[in-house]
Amino acid sequence: MLERVQGKYRRTVAAVLCRRLVKMQNAMPLISFTFDDFPLSALEVGGKILRQHGVAGTYYVSLGLLDREESVGRICSVVHLKEVLSQGHELGCHTFNHCDAWDTEPESFERSIVENQRALVSLMPGSIFETMSYPISTTPRPTTKEQTGLHFSCCRAGGQSNNVGSVDLNYVRSFFLEQSKDDPGKIFDLIERNRLANGWLIFSTHDVTDRPSRYGCTPRLFRDVVSRAVGSNTLVLPVSAALKEVLGGARNGHDLFDDSFRPGGFST
Ligand SMILES: [Zn+2]
Repeated sequence: MLERVQGKYRRTVAAVLCRRLVKMQNAMPLISFTFDDFPLSALEVGGKILRQHGVAGTYYVSLGLLDREESVGRICSVVHLKEVLSQGHELGCHTFNHCDAWDTEPESFERSIVENQRALVSLMPGSIFETMSYPISTTPRPTTKEQTGLHFSCCRAGGQSNNVGSVDLNYVRSFFLEQSKDDPGKIFDLIERNRLANGWLIFSTHDVTDRPSRYGCTPRLFRDVVSRAVGSNTLVLPVSAALKEVLGGARNGHDLFDDSFRPGGFST
């Protein structure tokens, strides 16, 4: 009971405070596929399925976890970072040490963002992380949310919903596939509702294997969802490319922001 109340409190605080709201200007509905932690199967199985459908995804990597055996399976190696980019996917930040977005002190969380960026530049000079996803709890503390937003064009959270009308760039909502693994109809409904609402639907998962961890999904489910997404008259793009569509079409920067946005700062 206490845990549930705590979880709700965190989700509310994370969603409501320190927002960076923009009005969505995309001409077409959007879907993005994202993988947290970048286990090898996300590229070898998930990435292959995306490529077979002619689309690409976003891989959120914690460079401090490279080559490790984790609950989501073996994490990728340096060679896979290069491979993922050469296949047209996006690499995003997930902090260097895979820090819990709520339980980590904001200062340590920010240090881990900077460390991940430095590690990326040393491994692949000239590369940057444009977007990030909040690790573990996916609910940042207000200070963490505000500081993190300054480092990236947008930050992905959870929330099990799509983004419609306006989007908080410091807390972009996503839908974890594994939470509806026994009810794919719910996922397909959301794809359709997103199309009708001209929204931005981001799918998240981790490993893609026949025997997935509790954070991953099977190739079958992943293939079904990708195939529905591609066939739904929707643009399927990595997060940073989809964001450009969301921001596109605005001739005047002021038009992008909802009333709650205060120029030069963050709304609360
Ligand atoms: Zn993670």
